[in-house]
Parts: sequence; structure tokens; C-alpha cells
Amino acid sequence: MKAVLVDEKTKQLYIGNAADPEMSEGELLVSVKATALNRADLLQKRGLYPPPQGASPILGLEMSGVVEKVGSKVEAWKAGDRVFALLPGGGYAEKVSIPAGMAMRIPDRFSFEEAAAIPEVFLTAYLNLFVLGGLKPGQTVLIHAGASGVGTAAIQLVKEAVATAIVTAGSEEKRNSCLQLGADAAIDYKAGPFAPRVMEATAGHGVHIIMDFIGASYWEQNIESLAMDGRLIVIGMMGGSTIKELDLGLLLRKRLQIIGTALRSQLPEYKIRLTQQFAAFAMPLFEDGRLKPVIDSVWEWDKADSAHEYMEENKNTGKIILRV
Ligand code: NAP
Repeated sequence: MKAVLVDEKTKQLYIGNAADPEMSEGELLVSVKATALNRADLLQKRGLYPPPQGASPILGLEMSGVVEKVGSKVEAWKAGDRVFALLPGGGYAEKVSIPAGMAMRIPDRFSFEEAAAIPEVFLTAYLNLFVLGGLKPGQTVLIHAGASGVGTAAIQLVKEAVATAIVTAGSEEKRNSCLQLGADAAIDYKAGPFAPRVMEATAGHGVHIIMDFIGASYWEQNIESLAMDGRLIVIGMMGGSTIKELDLGLLLRKRLQIIGTALRSQLPEYKIRLTQQFAAFAMPLFEDGRLKPVIDSVWEWDKADSAHEYMEENKNTGKIILRV
């Protein structure tokens, strides 16, 4: 099959030949129609984020496509079904094999590009808001990088939970997109510290949950922005990973919880349970248009390199899709 491969010397992407994936009796072989970019892909191609053991070394954490073959133990799917799924790797390729329990059916109203925009960001947002964050109606969530792929999914899920979403984003255009998606307030983090703005927006109470993709550079302000019993969920480290000084007293005073999370390294059984729980909650909402995949742009897959550059320059609002 053809796949997007990494030139080990230049780190440039090119389309080359790769072995077809193997398929076991509980799996589906899927002919991939679209995949999407994730920040992890940028790190992986530089050798900074190795795929979990046993996963394909090819980039790509999600895909949509058509079932080509069904394993002998699979009953719920047949050849020709339109499916989309989270992957531990291998999405930038013509074919992938997935455990049948990871597949979600593409609603008729969605194109392959729209379906490929859903798995990684919506499952990450769902896991962190509801499973780890324990979000309840009436609570307030601070979502950093509100216009990111995960941010745009999180805003919509927070609103579905009848909770309040405050976002940070680096441009007026991105802040407006977040407000249009339902965010209740959008803070320009480049105009000064965001913590005082968060306290203003919450009448001095602070927020119950922070979805943090930034890490070290936001540490102090994040702690300041949390309400009593608040939860800081560390999902990314785009602003660094090392904190020089850490006053544990602050955590005790506010009874804070800090949760580190990584979806990719979870075992397949965990991801299957999460996918099925998410699908039961979210698919009816996608079907009736209450939730929507947010697509920034669609690129042909031979332009994967330019698409990566575009993401690296922080230009996207929502997902960058590759058409395979
Ligand atoms: P994305 O769509 O590429 O958006 C990232 C945005 O973050 C940028 O466009 C930029 O927006 C902002 N940003 C970048 N560097 C920043 C910095 N140093 N300080 C403040 N803002 C910065 O990202 P994504 O694919 O949704 O992923 C978001 C994060 O979640 C990434 O760190 C990714 O690795 C992580 N992630 C983690 C998991 C997990 O399981 N732990 C799963 C999925 C994703 P502005 O223009 O607003 O600055």
C-alpha cells in the first residue's frame, strides 16, 4: 500500500510504499479515505514521540474510511460500511486494521473528511472533561488553546453539559470562532496575564476544571485560576514541561487535584470502552447537528508536509484534514 513516510534525514514527508497491515479475527481492515493531523504527529516525525509498543510506525492517530474485510469473529460490521476510529498510529496510509470495537459508524450526513475530524479531539475532550474532570452542570471550565482541535471539541461538550466555557486564544479571529461555538468568554492571553481575567469572569470564584495544553508557562496562573477543589488536567506541554519552583502549600490550601493524561498509550480495551461510551453519548448529538466537527482545512495527502508546517505556525482553528 501507499503511505506518508518520513525521510529520516530531512524529516520531510513523502508518499512511499509500506507493508499492508495485518488483520486478526476480531478486527476490520479499512480502506482509508481521510485522516487528520495532531500535534503528536509533529513530534513523532522528529523522533520525539515514539508510537506505543505494537502500534504502526506510520503517522496518524485517526481515520475515516470503508470496511474492506471483516475478521472471522466480527459480527457487527460488513464490507462496505463507512467507519471512523481513533488509532494508536498508521492513519496516514491507504489501509489500517482496527479492533472492531473501536469502529464508529459515520452518520449519513457526514463526509469522510468530517468524520476524520472527530475521533482524537472529541475523545480527548470527552475523557478529560467527563471521565477525569467529573464535569457537572453549572460548573466552569477554562479551556486553553480554545481554537485548537481539542479546544473546539471541548467548548461544544462543555455547553452540552450545561456548564460554562472560558477560553484563551491568541487572535481575535480565533476568539470569535470560540464564541460562535458557544464559549461564554474568550481571553486574549497575549494581552497580559489571563488569571485576573478568569477571576473577573467568575466573580472571584475561579474555575472548577482547567483543560491545559500549555504546561509550564501557565503553571502559576493556572493554580491562581482554580476554584477550591478544582482540577488541573494536564493534556499537553506546548509551553514547556519543567516547573522550577512548586509550592505544594497552594495545592493544599485550595484542595486542588492535578491530573496528567495521555490517550494514545492507553490499552486497546480502555480505548474500546471509552469509544463505546463516547459513541452512545455523542453520536445522537452529531446526527442531529448539536455537535459538529470543526474543520479548518482539507489537504490532499501529498501535501502533508505543507499541512504540518501550517499547524506548526499555529494557523488552524479546528482540524486539519488529509484526503487519502
Ligand atoms: P492544534 O489544533 O494544533 O492547536 C494548538 C494551538 O495551541 C495553536 O494553534 C495555538 O493557538 C496554541 N499554542 C501553541 N503553542 C502555544 C503556547 N506556547 N502557548 C499558548 N498557546 C499555544 O492542537 P491540537 O491538535 O488540538 O492539540 C492540542 C494539545 O493537546 C497539544 O498539545 C496536543 O499534543 C495535546 N493532546 C494531548 C492528548 C492527550 O491524550 N494527552 C490528546 C490529544 C491532544 P493560539 O493561536 O491560540 O496561540
